[in-house]
Amino acid sequence: MTDTVYMLQLKGVCKRYNDIQALAPTDLSVAEAQTTVLIGPSGCGKSTLLRLIAGLIRADSGTIVVEGTPLTPDNITALRHRMGYVIQEGGLFPHFNVRRNVTLMADYLGWDVERIDTRLGELADMVRLPSSLFDRYPAELSGGQRQRVSLMRALMLDPHLLLLDEPLGALDPMIRYELQQELKTIFENLAKTVVMVTHDIAEAAFFGHTLVLMRGGHVVQKGNVQQLARSPAEPFVEQFITAQRDPMQQLNEALS
Ligand code: ADP
Repeated sequence: MTDTVYMLQLKGVCKRYNDIQALAPTDLSVAEAQTTVLIGPSGCGKSTLLRLIAGLIRADSGTIVVEGTPLTPDNITALRHRMGYVIQEGGLFPHFNVRRNVTLMADYLGWDVERIDTRLGELADMVRLPSSLFDRYPAELSGGQRQRVSLMRALMLDPHLLLLDEPLGALDPMIRYELQQELKTIFENLAKTVVMVTHDIAEAAFFGHTLVLMRGGHVVQKGNVQQLARSPAEPFVEQFITAQRDPMQQLNEALS
């Protein structure tokens, strides 16, 4: 058997905001080319954990190792180029058009125009965004189109690690379903390591090779959805799963 290769390792990472322990000292290993989903109720520390990995906030203590290199204030900018980050509302710059939003970093890093254009075209094909939208501003796009552009921006530099904070959370159910299918195919085709935040167990099960269930700043259980459902580490795991029963099951119960 081959050993698991870890893209990311956290050792004793913690974060406090005044009297709130947003993340208790946490150890976590994230396997390469897999999707790891951080899940749990609102306020349990999912976004804090993702933002620490992205280097957007600094841990109070502990170490975050990305592809063998510990994150430090000195190397964070370089390491961030190996990470793509998408947030719920997309986080696009409202005063830049699609083309500018997607290509900004590549331009800043000195890529030549031809390389930028080629990459822009590849990404648009991948996420199925028509090139006729390249000159539009974010406000002139639908929510689904904005998330496609956000994903293009996150993938522009071909990062090894994709960090997604509720990327589909603001979309209506039909668009969300469509994008879920497409995103999963993209992640698999590109063999990217993905860390995704969601509070939706069905979405977590759909995407996640590994689920990390959190509560009150702690990791309660890590495993695949079968392990969580069949061998809950504590009653909370079962409660969390049951509380999010399939909406169709709820509908059927209401109709019966
Ligand atoms: P989740 O993503 O699971 O909803 P968060 O990681 O956003 O949870 O938040 C974890 C806890 O930390 C919450 O109690 C939240 O209110 C608190 N928190 C998060 N960010 C800040 C901040 N910038 N300042 C103060 N408290 C914060």
